[in-house]
Amino acid sequence: MAGIYIHIPFCKKRCVYCDFFSSTHSQMKDSYVEAVCKELEIRRDYLQNETIETIYFGGGTPSQLNPGDFEKIFQALSPFALHPSPEITLEANPDDLTSAYVDSIRPLPFNRVSVGIQSFNDKELKFLNRRHNAETAIQAVKRLQEKGFANISIDLMYGLPGQNETGWRKTIRRAKALSVQHISAYHLTYEENAPLYNRLQKGLIRPVEEEMSVRLFEILMDEMAEAGFEHYEISNFAQAGYRSKHNASYWNGTHYLGIGASAHSYDGQSRQWNVASIPKYIESQTPDSFEIIDEKTAYNDFILTRLRTAEGIDLEELTSLFGEEKKAYCFRHAHKYVENQYLEQQGKRLSLTRKGIFVSDGIMSDLFFSI
Ligand code: SF4
Repeated sequence: MAGIYIHIPFCKKRCVYCDFFSSTHSQMKDSYVEAVCKELEIRRDYLQNETIETIYFGGGTPSQLNPGDFEKIFQALSPFALHPSPEITLEANPDDLTSAYVDSIRPLPFNRVSVGIQSFNDKELKFLNRRHNAETAIQAVKRLQEKGFANISIDLMYGLPGQNETGWRKTIRRAKALSVQHISAYHLTYEENAPLYNRLQKGLIRPVEEEMSVRLFEILMDEMAEAGFEHYEISNFAQAGYRSKHNASYWNGTHYLGIGASAHSYDGQSRQWNVASIPKYIESQTPDSFEIIDEKTAYNDFILTRLRTAEGIDLEELTSLFGEEKKAYCFRHAHKYVENQYLEQQGKRLSLTRKGIFVSDGIMSDLFFSI
C-alpha cells in the first residue's frame, strides 16, 4: 500500500501567510507537466510495485492546470500498480472552479476535491490575499456537488488577527451548511518566508492571544462534533467513511512517492527531496538530497504522527518496531500526562484527551527520544 503526491507549483497570486513552494510565473507550465511525466517514468520502481491507493495533486494550485495537462499526467501514471479504486484528490482554488472548468475535469479520474477556502468572511479573505470571496467559495462547492463530486473537503483557517468567537462560529456554520464530507482547519502561523511574518516583525499586526486561540479551537471541536464529524486528527474532521486516506498515509508510515519540484518521497528507510526550483526541476527530475532515517528519528516520527491521530499510539506496534526499551521510555515519559488526564490509555492504545490536544506539542516533545 502506497501513495503518490504530485506537486503543482503555480499560483495566480500569493497568499500572505504561505511559505509553500510555488510561483506566480506560469510560462513554464507546459515544460513542467512534461517534466512531471518524465519523473513518473524515471521513478516507476521507487515504490517497488506496491499498490497505489492514493494519488494527491497538491500545490501551489493544481487547478491552474487544464484538463489536457492532467490527461498527460494520468497517462504517465497508468503503468503504476494502481488499486482498482484509488482515492484521487485534486486541490483546487474556488476561483478556478467555474462551471466550464468543473465540467472539463469531471471526466477525469478525480474522486475527491479539496477546496482551499480558509474563511467565509470577505474581510479576512482580503487580509489573507486570497483570490476569492465568500460567495465565490460557496458557489464553487455547490457547483462541484451539482456536477456529481461526492467527496469534497474544505480548508479553513483560524487564529487570524482580530478574529473573535462570533466570527469564527459564523465561518464554521457556513462550512457546515455546505454539507461537505471533510473539513481541515489550521491555525494561522507566521512562517519566516511569508510576507505576513515581516508585517508581524514590524508590529503592523497583532496576533490573537493564546487564550483566544484555545477558545477558537474549542468552538471548532464542538461545532464539528455537533454536526457528526469525527475528529480523527488534530486538524482534520470527517463524516463517517470520508477520512482522507492520503493524509492518513503520512501519519501511519505508508510509503509515498513525491513528484514535482520540492516534493518529498519516503520509502521506509529514507526521505528524498526534489529541488525547490522550477527551472532546475525541469532540467533534471531526480531528487537532489536525501536523509537516511535512523532509529531515533523513526521513533520520534512515530510518536509525532501517531499522537496527532484519534487512535493515538499503538503500543504493540511501538514495541514491535522499536523494542521493549523504547516502549518503557515512552511509558516513563507519558506517565505524568496519563495521571493528569492529558493522555489516556485504552487497551493497547495511548492517545491525547481533549485537554491534551491543547498542549500536544509539549507532550510530544517530552515523549521524544533525545539522546
Ligand atoms: S496558500 Fe495555496 S494558493 Fe495561496 S500562495 Fe500558498 S500555495 Fe498558492
